Amino acid sequence: QRRFELPYDIDGVVDKVDDIALQERLGFVQRAPRWAIAHKFSPQKAFTRIRDITIQVGRTGALTPVAELEPVTVGGVVVKRATLHNEDYIAAKDIRVGDTVVVQRAGDVIPQVVEVVREKRPPGSRPFVFPDRCPVCGSLAIRPPGEAIRRCTGGLFCPAQRVERLKHFVGRRAFDIEGLGRKQIPQLMEAGIVESPVDLFRLPHRPDRLARLEALEGWGEKKIRNLLAMIEARRRIPLDRFIFALGIRYVGEVNARILARHYGSFAAWRRAMEALAEGDAEVRAELEAVEGIGPTIAEALAEFFREPRNRQLVDELAREVEIQPVEAPATAASPLTGKTVVFTGELSRMTRSEAKQRAEALGARVSGSVSRRTDFVVAGANPGSKLARARELGVRILSEEEWYDIAGVT
Ligand SMILES: [Zn+2]
Repeated sequence: QRRFELPYDIDGVVDKVDDIALQERLGFVQRAPRWAIAHKFSPQKAFTRIRDITIQVGRTGALTPVAELEPVTVGGVVVKRATLHNEDYIAAKDIRVGDTVVVQRAGDVIPQVVEVVREKRPPGSRPFVFPDRCPVCGSLAIRPPGEAIRRCTGGLFCPAQRVERLKHFVGRRAFDIEGLGRKQIPQLMEAGIVESPVDLFRLPHRPDRLARLEALEGWGEKKIRNLLAMIEARRRIPLDRFIFALGIRYVGEVNARILARHYGSFAAWRRAMEALAEGDAEVRAELEAVEGIGPTIAEALAEFFREPRNRQLVDELAREVEIQPVEAPATAASPLTGKTVVFTGELSRMTRSEAKQRAEALGARVSGSVSRRTDFVVAGANPGSKLARARELGVRILSEEEWYDIAGVT
């Protein structure tokens, strides 16, 4: 009863045992305390009318339909928009512009449209047609079979996706350009200084843009000098990081490395991707047969390279930076080739990620958990439960020294 008198919004109540000693005796099940229980309010609902259905484009290009509503008060808050989730949701409920609908705030976060009041549907209304192009950049929006979400293929050229994608591009695991973060990227984009990743590498030769940068708030002479030095220092990049930096769907660090190793050089990879996008069945079959890559990733790559602006971006970037070839994993001579390795505990002479890289360079697959399929567990100082698990399963355990021997670390 007191919910609406509170100066803040709540979505439920937690009852707790009001006695510390009792709480301690009751303890926890997993992470959940036995001495507390949460009650969520049932969602609050209201009737209103859909004025329009608009499409929002998210970071990964996901097209999310949004109902623009006649403002209505739900649970003390005025609601003007509600999510419609995806095109299947709209189709299943046959939600149309002009419909009177039931809106609810579940958990009192994002309001949603739960039901259509069919009797109040205006005459002549039509089913909503979900767009097949991005409403922001006009690129094709594709929905892969088996997925609920339709996505803009504009990638780095879609303004809605650009900011987040550029953040990914300059991120530590990609081009690693310091000094460009959450604040600076939108700032540079709005000022028209950097519109695509290529612009970053062209910046040193664009006096007009540099002048604009100098005029920006927070960009002193020293900061600009540091940024330019950083850009110069990053003109050389290994192929795997380059591929990762492009932010292609499903192509994270691991897959980027697999691709880089498989194709070896930028030129070879680029040629294969062109053929893939053109529907070359042989190239596709070869790619899908690569361990760790499958039809989903192959399709994501094909989709990326089917978009001419993505191809242009890749080629322009390749002219600005030097992409270093990646060596294939060592030959079958390595005792780790094809083996699955798990690391536990601390190694004194290398970080975990160095150890992982080294093991992968020797042809091993590095896993985070021990199973029957694990071939080796490398146990450093203060090993965790993985060591116990390895003993239980009879997995071969390597000491730190044995690992260094195999890894060729002296
Ligand atoms: Zn777009």
